[in-house]
Amino acid sequence: MKRPLLLNGYTSSGTSEVGRRIAAGTGHPFVDLAEQSPNSTVEQNSGGRPKDPSGREQLRATIDAWRRGEMPSPIVALGADTLLPRAERLAALDECVVVLLDSLLDVDANTELGQTLALRAYAYAECHGRVSVSGVNPSEVASLAESVWRRDPLAVATGERSYCVDVGPGICSRELAHAVGRASRVVLVTDEHVEPLHAGPVRKTLAEAGFECTTVVLRSGEQHKTIEGVSDIWKHALEAGADRSSVFVALGGGIVTDMAGFAAATWMRGVRWISIPTTLLGMVDASVGGKTGVDLASAKNAVGSFWQPSAVLCDVAHLRTEPDRGFTGALAEVVKTALIGDPDLLRLLEQRPDDVRSRDPNVVAEMVRRCVRVKARVVSADERESGLRAVLNLGHTVGHALESGAGYVGLTHGEAVSLGLIAAVQIGSARGWTPPEVAARTGTLLGELGLPVALDQAALAKAAALIVHDKKRRGTTLRFVVVRDVGRVEPTTVNLDDLIRWTGELNP
Ligand code: NAD
Repeated sequence: MKRPLLLNGYTSSGTSEVGRRIAAGTGHPFVDLAEQSPNSTVEQNSGGRPKDPSGREQLRATIDAWRRGEMPSPIVALGADTLLPRAERLAALDECVVVLLDSLLDVDANTELGQTLALRAYAYAECHGRVSVSGVNPSEVASLAESVWRRDPLAVATGERSYCVDVGPGICSRELAHAVGRASRVVLVTDEHVEPLHAGPVRKTLAEAGFECTTVVLRSGEQHKTIEGVSDIWKHALEAGADRSSVFVALGGGIVTDMAGFAAATWMRGVRWISIPTTLLGMVDASVGGKTGVDLASAKNAVGSFWQPSAVLCDVAHLRTEPDRGFTGALAEVVKTALIGDPDLLRLLEQRPDDVRSRDPNVVAEMVRRCVRVKARVVSADERESGLRAVLNLGHTVGHALESGAGYVGLTHGEAVSLGLIAAVQIGSARGWTPPEVAARTGTLLGELGLPVALDQAALAKAAALIVHDKKRRGTTLRFVVVRDVGRVEPTTVNLDDLIRWTGELNP
């Protein structure tokens, strides 16, 4: 097990006993913070307050010791309050596997305890897995909690709509039935290219688990990302008798997952959906954040909603058949993500560009996991895009302008982002914001990954004029994301005229 296991829950949920059992079975060290929480029986009997009643200091010390390699990944039974502050919780979700032992079913909602638990529901729901302890014996609870730990998923923390992303070859057949859970019927949404390649095994997995499944095959291409396509999904769902407890499963690239997610958001005022992205962009970008929707005429993603999936399964085996241009284009988003928050990912890409380009499953799985982790960190801290999430726009200001200047045909989105990243680091370097070696590393890496890196003077001049139309513009200024170092970026307010001039002055 790679990361620490944190067992969370209210005092009655038995985290200490379950933790002890898992430790005995696996030989991993056990740290009990539940026994010292202010609500614990031990504490009430002894009458005094411990030095660290919430257990937060000891949790941090334990994680630090594990990080320094002083102990194998520990199992920690948390106090009921340990992860109540959101910053502590997000840090724990980022670095550990958090399993909630849920005792809610045992509690009458009208009692004081019931009300306390209702108030904490948002916080407790932010976890990697939830195991009900009602009527289940501790050894079974321990085995279920341990299986979440072994799966090692990544968490996207969005309150009671939190969910996990599982990454790895073969993850789809292993986890899909569990992810669907209880459902009256499954509506499988895919597209005309993906259906013949990958829908068969998905349908087989669903049939073996006893689910009735209806397949909707969408036409491929951005021009078909329309409300008519979504309406087609609704009609199939209606004909199949899908109801409020049906689950939509999206199998395809970002277009399919955006459309199926939006159909799920609006079907019977919102049903659960599971995302199985089959493109690299779908895995590293569209899988996290819950943005769903369609285009309206030329307005991209003009209609949509935030509707989080209940699970995301990134089966990197699906990427073997993705067309080259899409896969390579998505690598620009991977480099962007590394610059935003993961220096080790940047090094991995620099050390193994050939394995990345040949889609070595282990390297690709590691790359996808790292990207999902960075995006999950950003989205969890800012679900509705009110501030921090702006960093994800790195490279997109000039990138979008170049893409639209080329009439959306000459350059793919990923290729435009590659050039946009080059522009961002060169502009930053010329103003003393970005270290020149970081700018040089970015250009070399993008080139080694097969992305375009040569800025064209005429295209830049056209792009500079189009920056005025940027969605992030506020009057005469714009939030431009600056790279301060690898893993350290920040949105900076710049004057629009300055940015247009700097873009026009970039050296091809
Ligand atoms: P896409 O969905 O159009 O897929 C690209 C092409 O590859 C399609 O023809 C598709 O049929 C085919 N394909 C997909 N998977 C395949 C596979 N495994 N094997 C063979 N062919 C396969 O493109 P995309 O790049 O995945 O996604 C782009 C869309 O995603 C855009 O509409 C964009 O707006 C959206 N997007 C959404 C988010 C979000 O947060 N929701 C983020 C980024 C992008």
